Amino acid sequence: MRLHVADHPLVAHKLTTLRDQRTDSPTFRRLAEELVTLLAYEATRDVRVEPVTVSTPVASATGVKLATPKPLVVPILRAGLGMLDGMMRLLPTAEVGFLGMVRNEETLQASTYAQRLPDDLSGRQCYVLDPMLATGGTLAAAIRFLVERGADHITAICLLSAPEGCERVDKDLAGLDIPVTIVTAGMDERLNEKGYIVPGLGDAGDRLYGVVD
Ligand code: URA
Repeated sequence: MRLHVADHPLVAHKLTTLRDQRTDSPTFRRLAEELVTLLAYEATRDVRVEPVTVSTPVASATGVKLATPKPLVVPILRAGLGMLDGMMRLLPTAEVGFLGMVRNEETLQASTYAQRLPDDLSGRQCYVLDPMLATGGTLAAAIRFLVERGADHITAICLLSAPEGCERVDKDLAGLDIPVTIVTAGMDERLNEKGYIVPGLGDAGDRLYGVVD
């Protein structure tokens, strides 16, 4: 697994405001989108392209266009939805699939409760959106789900990560023979006893969309 922690003052600035408990939901949503767009630039560094020739007003020029099959963006419900618009801004022709994963707050085990994805992901590059890489259980399960359907190149974009989560994903996916990259805006200190990232930003879903019991 490859890990890329963004090192950019604008990313750090936006992340700091996201962390601040005084930041209200509308501002949080806007900043999350902006951060994802910045991270998406790095995350799509290896997006597949194919050669194309276009006519400029002066001459013909060779360039590239996104290859087919199109990349698939997969937000993990619910908090990953808050990252979708920011990602699609940079990759507007990508297709979108949805994966609903829930974490049991006692066992911290992840399970799938909903999915809307193509059955066959052969040859697809997938971009998984999950704001908080905490224990790593959800992300590892989501990546495994996509690979079992044939995805052959996975990049996860996470706003914040914990070292324990990165280690878990790396360990859980060690046997997979495909490239997996995690792009994150920040690597925090640790997880607390409830599985929250410290210092983190709290519950990303609640901060985006309010508390749902
Ligand atoms: N999920 C969150 O929303 N926040 C955390 O800190 C950990 C998991």
